[in-house]
Amino acid sequence: MNINKVINKNAHAYIISSPDADVREKMALELACAFICEKDGQIPCLECVCCKNVLAGFHPDVTEISRKTDDKGKTKREIQVDQIRQMAADAYVRPQQAEKKIYIIKDAGYMNISAQNAALKILEEPPSYVIFILCTDSAEVLLDTIRSRCVTIRAEGETEGGESKSALEYISLAAKKDLAGLCMFFGKNESIDTEQMSAFIGEVRFCLNNVICLKKNYEGLTRSDAVRLLSLFERADGYMRLNVGVKHILGMLCVLTI
Ligand SMILES: [Zn+2]
Repeated sequence: MNINKVINKNAHAYIISSPDADVREKMALELACAFICEKDGQIPCLECVCCKNVLAGFHPDVTEISRKTDDKGKTKREIQVDQIRQMAADAYVRPQQAEKKIYIIKDAGYMNISAQNAALKILEEPPSYVIFILCTDSAEVLLDTIRSRCVTIRAEGETEGGESKSALEYISLAAKKDLAGLCMFFGKNESIDTEQMSAFIGEVRFCLNNVICLKKNYEGLTRSDAVRLLSLFERADGYMRLNVGVKHILGMLCVLTI
């Protein structure tokens, strides 16, 4: 699995979820490479010195945080709050070599509540050059407030839903940047109920994750557009959970898709 160029200029935090720890950690490193790679064009190249250092765990601007081990060499049950506070303090020191400074939190789901709250604080107002990558089994174990600040990438493309007809129609219009078509699409669907809306959001996210993970191509929708739209649909999902009306959410999607 390969993440090239999943760089959304507006996103400073990502969640990579996969039940397979190796898969998500590999993806996290490749995503980190994408921000650090010194080549032009197709990035990350995974071959330049910067990429190689990231992959080998030597890059000074990429830090991995994981559960500590105790005196007996046993892995502790939780990522503790002082580890996150230390990360937050370190985040204010500018990067040494690269333009970005990246923190990969392995097993982010093991952050206890105080660690998650400390993480939330820095996620809310991070220094502009910092990128956070949270690896987890399942994004659902993280606080909603953390999730709402991150772009979630599901490694397996194993999201809720599948490719429904309306999701494919939407993706196709978004890929073509067909504003008139999108207005018609949302007009046609304005009377759907909350259950149908949730299903639609899940299906679109499924397709977007496929694009981000390079599993599939939908009418030329680019990866950076997919990342941006995924963030938009996560916002829509958050509004659903806050019981915002379906029509309002459809309106937002219509206005912000392109
Ligand atoms: Zn490179």
